[in-house]
Formats: sequence, structure tokens, C-alpha cells
Amino acid sequence: MRQSQLFMPTLRVSPSEAEAASHQLMLRAGLIRQLAAGIYTYLPPGRRVLRKLEAIIREEMDKAGCQEVFMPAMQPADLWRQSGRYEKYGPELVRLKDRHEREFALGPTHEEVITDLVRGELSSYRQLPLTLYQIQTKFRDEKRPRYGLLRGREFMMKDAYSFDADWEGLDRSYQRMYEAYHRIFTRCGLNFRPVEADAGTIGGEGGTHEFMALADIGEDTIAACDHCQYAANLEKAGYRLAGDTPNAEGSSSHPEPEKLHTPKVRKIDELVQALGIPADQILKTLLFLADGKPVAVIVRGDHEVNEIKLAGLLQADQLELADQATTEKLTGAAVGFAGPIGLSIPILADYSAAAVISAVAGANDHWKHVRPGIHFEIAQLGDLRNAVSGDGCPNCADGHLRMFRGIEVGQVFKLGTKYSEGMQANYLDASGSEKPVIMGCYGIGISRVMSAVVEQHHDEEGILWPREIAPYQVHVVPVSAKDEKQMKAAEELYAKLASAGLEVLLDDREERPGVKFKDSDLIGIPVRIVVGRQAAEGIVELKYRSEKAAIQAEIQEAVTLVKDFYRS
Ligand SMILES: [Zn+2]
Repeated sequence: MRQSQLFMPTLRVSPSEAEAASHQLMLRAGLIRQLAAGIYTYLPPGRRVLRKLEAIIREEMDKAGCQEVFMPAMQPADLWRQSGRYEKYGPELVRLKDRHEREFALGPTHEEVITDLVRGELSSYRQLPLTLYQIQTKFRDEKRPRYGLLRGREFMMKDAYSFDADWEGLDRSYQRMYEAYHRIFTRCGLNFRPVEADAGTIGGEGGTHEFMALADIGEDTIAACDHCQYAANLEKAGYRLAGDTPNAEGSSSHPEPEKLHTPKVRKIDELVQALGIPADQILKTLLFLADGKPVAVIVRGDHEVNEIKLAGLLQADQLELADQATTEKLTGAAVGFAGPIGLSIPILADYSAAAVISAVAGANDHWKHVRPGIHFEIAQLGDLRNAVSGDGCPNCADGHLRMFRGIEVGQVFKLGTKYSEGMQANYLDASGSEKPVIMGCYGIGISRVMSAVVEQHHDEEGILWPREIAPYQVHVVPVSAKDEKQMKAAEELYAKLASAGLEVLLDDREERPGVKFKDSDLIGIPVRIVVGRQAAEGIVELKYRSEKAAIQAEIQEAVTLVKDFYRS
């Protein structure tokens, strides 16, 4: 491709609306342009990267025994009602009506459509297992679209669905996908980690893993062990109980709670300052409504309540923090002063909070020498907090948890019979009895992978594309397009590289060398060959984008070097 013809409008400065490095660089390098908030056009080089990602995914999916289909983006609302998700999905689901006032949704995912397809065709266990996938545009009406392709409203996804006769079959399908995902993200050049995750809105009885690309801009927190392979999303991460057991013994010698006068102090850090007591000796009381019923939750002052764990323990569908009026009504105290003493609603305590022997706790002002389980009753004890850095690993005896930020680029999910039962997708087993098919679902955010790659692979000058997904494989840059000898050598190189099967971009523009080099670094093709003053002697300069030093080489030698680079 000749750069003078290529539609790749590069920008010198970062557009002010872009916060994330990947968003800035993809705009600057002429890969994408925004149409509306969270909605983007891919320009030719961006489209090339996307197609390469798609090719890797197709190759690995096909290798894993999956078959490609293509389903409609426009889905009847009735299907979503059958699965019970039409109301549940909330405002993120893009809804519309046709001219006959029939309701539709633009698919953020395709469980309903695929289950409908398969239930119509499935009769016997002999048709199983089956895994179907597609690469398609998805829609999600994000409240705050941001970071370019990282949190968009319209995005590219690969989604796959497996159908098995039994759970053992699902385990095998899941494992095959898990391994395929490893290969895919490795080939994309990502630094990633599979982590245990919470089932969230998709629901399902089985396990789930998220594949996280490590990046500071990531919106997810990952807890990973420094000793074993354990890694989990913060929503899900447990911690090792080390002496975190409630103290009921020795209560006779325990002093009675004493009231402290703290009329203006309601935040933990203010309390730490006012009383000179560390946060881990303070008990925090939060009031929640679980399916409408009030409960109090106690965690240590230095910990945060994990609402997913709390909802799990209570088996609650709806969980919300009680507002000011409810808090006052239930406790007679304002938010920040509520405490466990004398509370008449069930109190749930986190293990670590219950293990504090003498705590400060709020109750219309604060009390000291409060001992959980003695001065107030614990209705239920559990892991109710977010894991923190330094917590013991729940999976091994010696490791400790460390926190990382990550971008979710993929997820594998054991759905079980959640959709097949609700939507009657059944098959006949060998004995002729009807059974619901066992399902799994597997997603990859392709446009998000593209962003995550740029987030991980860039420097001050621009992008450093991993070799398998670079928009072009080699960038030939003659220093002066007006110099006949240089252009002749550049054309010779261009032809030789192209006939070796390489994807070449030739910068034939009549630009200053500074502009050409800046653009070249910005768009980040893995290998650059500069054709300069020594062109007359057949000498060119080869430089890998990831390295500082350049190599002098003869034209044929340069071609061999590039070929070897892509062969290894
Ligand atoms: Zn561990």
C-alpha cells in the first residue's frame, strides 16, 4: 500500500476528549473516528487490525471444534421475555419498536437467539455436543461510554455457545474454550490473567472465568496470589481466615462498653484522628435493604463491604444501601452514627470484624470496648468484605494477595440449564427421556482487545503493534520522495517484500523526514526500513519499533531479516 493513497489521517496532538492512552493513540494514528458517544468508525488501518484479530479468533475457534454462524442484531422482545431478561436487563438494553409497534432489542448478547435456534433443531443426544460462534456487532447503552473502544455502546464481539448432554460434557467444552482463549490472547500479544469471577447478570449455576488484560486504566480490580496461581476478580476474591474467628470466650473479664462523646464525627478517618484509634479497631455499620428487608452489616473500619458476597450470603436478588430516612427510622441515628448496640434488625458480621476484641462502634455517638457477639448479637457470620492487599491467599497456605487493575477482554461461563429450562431447549437421551440441554457461553470483546493491546504496547511516540495484529508488517520510508535514487531503491524493496508475501506500507508522500518518522513511530508497524543517503550503494537501515538501534543492511539482506522476523 502506498501511504499517499491510504486513508489514515494522523493527528499531531491528542484530542482533548480522550483520557486513555489507547483512545488518544487510536485517534492520533488514524485508526478510528467517533461518530457519537461510544460509537466509532474504523478507518482502513484500524479495520485491518480488527480483521487480523478476527482471523486469529476464527482460526482458534475452528481448531477447538466450533462452527461459525451469524445471528441477527435485532431480536424480538418476546424472546427476552421468555428468558426473563427483558425487564431485568435494565436501561443498558437498547429497545426499539417496528412500524407495527412490535418490540425489539438490539442484542448485547445472544443467549436467547441461539437457544431459540437450537431448541427448534435439537431432538437427540446424538446431535451433541455442539458449539456455535459468531463475530458480530453488539449494543449496550452505557451510562458513561468512555475510554474509546474500551467502554463503547456499539462494539465487536465474538460470542460462542456450547450445548452438551451432561455436565461432564460442559466441563470438556469449557476447558477447550479456556485453552483456546489462552492461545488467542497470547497470539494477540496481551499480558493477561484468567481470574475467577462472579456470575453477574448472565446468571448460571456453574463457574466462570474472566480473562483480564493487565493495565492501570482497567476498571476491574484483580486479586492475585504472590505464591500460587490463584487470581480472582475483587467481587469474588476470598481471603484466608487467619485467627479471624469470633471471640466468645473470656467474656466475663471484658469491660462494659463506654460511651464516647463524638457529636460531629461520622467518617472513619475522622474517628481515627479524633480518638487516636486505628481503623482496624473500629466497627463500621451499614444498613442494607435485601429484597426490601433491612439488615445491618458490620465490617472493620479499614474494610469495604462486598455487596456481591453479601447478596450471595442472603440469597437476595435486590440489594441496596438504606437511605438516610430508612437509616434514621431503623436506628434512631443519622448515617455515620448507626451502630450495632441495641439494634433490632438482624446483624451480619464479616469474619475480620467479628474477631476484633475491643472495638469502637457507632450508636448515636460512639462506644468503646465493644465486643462483637457479646455486646451485640451476630445473626450470621461470613466473608462480607473486599479482599485487600496483604490478605492471606484463600487457595494456599503461604501466599498473600496483591491487587492489580485489569481490562476484561473475555469471559467463559458455565450456564448450565438457566436458558434451556426457561426456554424449553430439550433433547431426548439414550433412554428416550426428555432433558434440558446443558449450556456454556464464551465471549471476547474484539474491539476491546484492540484497545487493551494499545494500552499495553505503546511508548511516548506511539503504538508498538505485536507482530500478528499489526496493520502492516513492514514500513518502507524513503527519506526524500524527490530523490530519484532513494525512490528507485524504495520501490525495489517494496516489490521484493510484497512478493515475499509481506504486507508493506510505502511512505511515498512528499513530506519532511521529521513528519514521516513521527508518523511511522505513531502508527507503530513492527519493522521500519529507512531508505536514505546510502540508497545509491544499495544500503538501507532497518529498525524494529521495539528497539532503539538501527541495522545497516543491503536490500536483499533487509528482505531476509524481515522474513525471518515474521517466521520466528
Ligand atoms: Zn495462593
